[in-house]
Amino acid sequence: MRIVVLRLGHRYTRDKRISTHIGLVARAFGASELVMDIWDPLVEKSINKVVEEWGNSLKIDITRDWREYIRNFNGDRIHLTMYGININECINKIKESKRDKLIIIGGKKVPSEVYSLVDYNVAIGNQPHSEIAALAVFLDRLIGGKELDREFKGKKRIIPQEHGKKVVKDS
Ligand code: SAM
Repeated sequence: MRIVVLRLGHRYTRDKRISTHIGLVARAFGASELVMDIWDPLVEKSINKVVEEWGNSLKIDITRDWREYIRNFNGDRIHLTMYGININECINKIKESKRDKLIIIGGKKVPSEVYSLVDYNVAIGNQPHSEIAALAVFLDRLIGGKELDREFKGKKRIIPQEHGKKVVKDS
């Protein structure tokens, strides 16, 4: 199952860290692609730096037309929003389908059209919080924790310690 994250409404002035963290969460929690409707080379650079050091890959792409992108996506289209159906009520149905998943998250106010273009509007609880938190919780629930056991093949690798830090550099 291919998982793509569509980030809408990135703001150059205040979202660099947030959009970068969205990319890092997407990669660490099992997505293979991040698509943005607003391009920011600094976000791409920061994500690629992590990928280069810690391995695997995350394709980063831009869409000039997010409506068409959502419409044409061949799989389940899921918008994360506090106004949606609580994840506890719909995650089993979403997991039943092995189709590819498009996960849409906003920044500034999401255009109302998005709500009707998607198959699911899912709330990670019906309280406002953050797109990074929403994405992490959703991916973890979708993949059932298995993404945390994934092996990443990079230049650096962590040897888990009960105390302290141990990083091995593979050549
Ligand atoms: N007022 C904005 C709106 O109308 O959507 C909320 C902006 S919020 C800071 C940015 C993004 O975080 C939202 O577009 C949504 O994707 C995500 N988000 C925030 N709280 C959420 C929740 N409880 N459940 C799911 N997604 C949430």
